[in-house]
Amino acid sequence: PTAASLLGSTSTHFPQTHEKISDPKDTPYFIDNEFRLSQSKNFILVHDPATNNLVTRVPMMTSDELQLAIESAQNAFSSWSKTSIIARQQIMFRYVSLIKENWDRLAASITLEQGKTFADARGDVLRGLQVAEAACAGPEYMKGEILEVAKDMETRTYREPLGVIAAICPFNFPAMIPLSCIPIATITGNTMVLKPSERDPGAAMILAELAEKAGFPKGVINVVHGTHDTVNFLIDSPVIKAISFVGSNKAGEYIFTRGSATGKRVQANLGAKNHALIMPDCDKEAALDAIVSAAFGAAGQRCMALSVAVFVGESRQWLDELVQKAKTLRVDAGFEHGADLGPVVTPESKARIESLIASAQVEGAHILLDGRGYKPEKYPNGNWVAPTIITDVRQSMQCYKEEIFGPVLVCVNVDTLEAGIDLINGNDYGNGAAIFTSSGAVAEKFRRNIEAGQLGINVPIPVPLPMFSFTGNKKSVAGGGASTFYGKPGVNFYTQLKTVTSKWSSASIVPTKAVLSMPTGS
Ligand code: NAD
Repeated sequence: PTAASLLGSTSTHFPQTHEKISDPKDTPYFIDNEFRLSQSKNFILVHDPATNNLVTRVPMMTSDELQLAIESAQNAFSSWSKTSIIARQQIMFRYVSLIKENWDRLAASITLEQGKTFADARGDVLRGLQVAEAACAGPEYMKGEILEVAKDMETRTYREPLGVIAAICPFNFPAMIPLSCIPIATITGNTMVLKPSERDPGAAMILAELAEKAGFPKGVINVVHGTHDTVNFLIDSPVIKAISFVGSNKAGEYIFTRGSATGKRVQANLGAKNHALIMPDCDKEAALDAIVSAAFGAAGQRCMALSVAVFVGESRQWLDELVQKAKTLRVDAGFEHGADLGPVVTPESKARIESLIASAQVEGAHILLDGRGYKPEKYPNGNWVAPTIITDVRQSMQCYKEEIFGPVLVCVNVDTLEAGIDLINGNDYGNGAAIFTSSGAVAEKFRRNIEAGQLGINVPIPVPLPMFSFTGNKKSVAGGGASTFYGKPGVNFYTQLKTVTSKWSSASIVPTKAVLSMPTGS
């Protein structure tokens, strides 16, 4: 079957509207460059978060189907890994241009299944597209090193692909995270089995369709579905050589441990609690705007969302202005023009967020702005939580300790920069942190002393572009963050170094007797 017959045409399966789909199609899987319908009897229902209308059913794929996907990637590896890097680069160029051509279609699938606004969904696609663009520099990344280490002797390194990679993705960036993996894994000569989030697989299916159009041979990129059982199947397969995981701590720590135990490479980016320090000397308007955007954008469902505002000294007096700015945000369905933030992903997620807000109240914090109970008139059935600001929060409170992953900003007051730094370093997570200040000395002190992987200085969400790498720290990564996504470290993760030392001597210097002691260089 063609992609169009299974995925539906652009205008029917991924319409830029929240109207009820009369005939929702099941999401197919993708093996050997073909879309196929699963024989599974078990499905996960995906609903539009703005309406809770059914969008698609995602199969819990059978073991036989999963095994076929792994075998497809395994079969493709021997020829793909030997395909010249220049040929792989040409395919990546085409992939980049096809993603650009399908940008709105990808974004529409994200808005429909994940809920974020269409403008923000376009940003989700862009951040993934940029990784594919950077991967076009694969020939540069894959170059080895060479050195003449002794007379007639040289050592050189080669980068070789690992084999079959499994990528396990979260719901919050349906295009960006698959694209954090696909381009780097494939340009380096690996093949893949990718599992998108069961909550919003649409963008990954379009990316699979575009991969086939770009010229990736069959089996290089396969897409499978399911939840825990599918992930366990991938982790336990001896064919899989490395696992790229992005998601929660609960899943990621488990996957890291189980995957590492079977000798696989595992990179895992996990949860977060990102703090912003607001110094009294900062540009107040710019800082408050940045915090509102970084706390409530994507309804707070970004791993780099700013979820804790730390007011230092006098800046605590700006709280009311922060609340006023947050009140101006329009919470609406993602395709509505002018929507600033959409719904959260599922009713369960809404219930969890609301219970964390309630726990703050019980524990003695103050809800300065309460987003519970909000409903846009046109969309009464969506998973709505409007911007919420909680003050007088203490470190012992549940709302401070846990990742809320919703449009909720918790606010803490401290008296000094040093106290703010201690507070941030005392938190278990270390994905990102930001400071707002006009002082270079203050910014420098922050930079030197903060134990978080990605810092913003007057920048609220400092996600590195793909010529750098995504460098979380502490509990926000598994395995101490030794393996990071994209950039040169991403290429390291997906390749094995081979080091060759060779000697080509002229006949006159060939020793007549074997030397058994280790060479000392003399
Ligand atoms: P999740 O952990 O629930 O799911 C992620 C993936 O793991 C999904 O594909 C899911 O099917 C699978 N999974 C879930 N539980 C599993 C288990 N017990 N065993 C095996 N597989 C399992 O995460 P989510 O809710 O989709 O995503 C939100 C989380 O991801 C947040 O914690 C967020 O901070 C994190 N995240 C982190 C980054 C980062 O770069 N640090 C980026 C995006 C999202």
